[in-house]
Amino acid sequence: MAKKTNQARDSVPAISDADDLLLGEPLPEAERIAALEQLRQQVAACTRCLELTDHRTQTVFGVGNPMARLCFLGEAPGADEDRLGEPFVGRAGKLLTRIIEACRLKREEVYILNVLKCRPPGNRAPHPLEAANCRPFLDRQLEIIRPEFLVCLGASAAQTLLNTTASIGKLRGRFYRYRGIRVLATYHPAYLLRNPSAKRPVWEDMKMLMQEMGIPIPQ
Ligand code: SF4
Repeated sequence: MAKKTNQARDSVPAISDADDLLLGEPLPEAERIAALEQLRQQVAACTRCLELTDHRTQTVFGVGNPMARLCFLGEAPGADEDRLGEPFVGRAGKLLTRIIEACRLKREEVYILNVLKCRPPGNRAPHPLEAANCRPFLDRQLEIIRPEFLVCLGASAAQTLLNTTASIGKLRGRFYRYRGIRVLATYHPAYLLRNPSAKRPVWEDMKMLMQEMGIPIPQ
């Protein structure tokens, strides 16, 4: 197969992926809980990325409702997440909770996960090989939960999931599909903490999400 050029990867991904749908019937809740627990144990024992394995306190699998209609996907655990074993628990996590609540949802109703399950030392960006190593775990999580919607938080999560190098500014503001899931990309809450002016475009993205999910938008 011809190698993709950088130019091709810079472009915004195509909307349709009809040939790449998740197959099979969605699992009932009890089976999802059991399958996620089995996967969590596999992740906890994983040593594919030697540098991350050496530095992690623990793996950070994901948290939330196994029946969630909506997932939020971040890049990787930070220091707080590595310490507590849960994604998005620091200042950025608190802001994410507020964003979720602004969408008239509760944090417990959605599922929150990261591309990488181990913290990169010094919060450096994940290496492509690490993202590739961890991808089967992410794909299996999505296969079990089968969300209708997924919000990528920040460029790294969006670029990894959608296999593009396009900027988050170019990617946000429209829906994509990944294995039958409707995907939206927006700015990372940590970026919002540094750049409060980005709250407006994030709210625009969330309103678009609410509309598609059939949630009344607050006036
Ligand atoms: S980041 Fe993922 S693939 Fe790499 S060691 Fe951690 S769990 Fe394994």
